Amino acid sequence: MRLDLEIHSPLEEVNLPAFTKHGVRVFVKRDDLIHPLISGNKWRKLKYLLKKADAESKQHLVTFGGAYSNHLLATAAAAAKFGFKATGFVRGEEVQNDTLLLCRLHGMQLIFTSRESYRDKAALFNNHFAGDTNAFFIDEGGASPEAALGCSELVDELPFAFDHVFCACGTGTTAAGIINGLNKHQLKTQFHAIPALKNGNFLRNDIDKFLTHPHPFHLHNQYHFGGYAKTTPKLIGFIKTFTAATGILIEPVYTGKMLYALVDMVKQGEFASGSRILAVHTGGIMGLFGMANKF
Ligand SMILES: *Cc1c(COP(=O)(O)O)cnc(C)c1O
Repeated sequence: MRLDLEIHSPLEEVNLPAFTKHGVRVFVKRDDLIHPLISGNKWRKLKYLLKKADAESKQHLVTFGGAYSNHLLATAAAAAKFGFKATGFVRGEEVQNDTLLLCRLHGMQLIFTSRESYRDKAALFNNHFAGDTNAFFIDEGGASPEAALGCSELVDELPFAFDHVFCACGTGTTAAGIINGLNKHQLKTQFHAIPALKNGNFLRNDIDKFLTHPHPFHLHNQYHFGGYAKTTPKLIGFIKTFTAATGILIEPVYTGKMLYALVDMVKQGEFASGSRILAVHTGGIMGLFGMANKF
């Protein structure tokens, strides 16, 4: 099999009154445009995992996620596109939603798993697929050195050096990969990680774990809006205003929180006039539809 996984996402400048007022230029790396379902960072995260599976002649991707997992859907879509079979272990009792419908449409077999047994992913894999020499384990969210390597390539695509880069975090793998990329190019860019979940301090370790060299970064813990997949009217209002003003669709779970943080810090005068700031659009727009009742 020959896997053509090369991509290069567009870069787009956005103008908001706050940016002009504070003299900063803000650009969005449109990874959301890479693919409608293998969206944003998920394509980058899967790239070297798929290559590894292919090199090991494994044709069956086995992975894990919650019922709204963008990673599960991306894996299902990538498996269909690149000729793999796919199984997804879904946390919790059996449910139906748009994400799982799309997983099934792409041929992914879904195995609903109690929250208790979901905790031990290696055991789940071994219990179900120990005898399947084709089965290839991909951790929840794709978290792995391979995924970080794929994400580091985002930096190769940047046409000039930024003063600051912002990225939303779930497992922190994407953040670590981008920091590795900045390091590789010996850039002085400051990296800002925005956890999508509450008490995100553990992310410092999780990001450090995938760094090829130790490197400082900022972890901004105060933009979780109540926790993972939680929203407030303020966040929803921000998303509506941002999308209407820029034409760039964002969602409440990850990119809405990250861009809220960016705009908030610009308004607080955190960045010197003349600063060039990059926001990584990690995609995930499917997550919007599960939250339509919040708008
Ligand atoms: C999965 C996802 C993330 C989190 O990526 P990590 O590498 O796990 O930190 C961020 N944004 C979106 C839109 C995602 O779907």
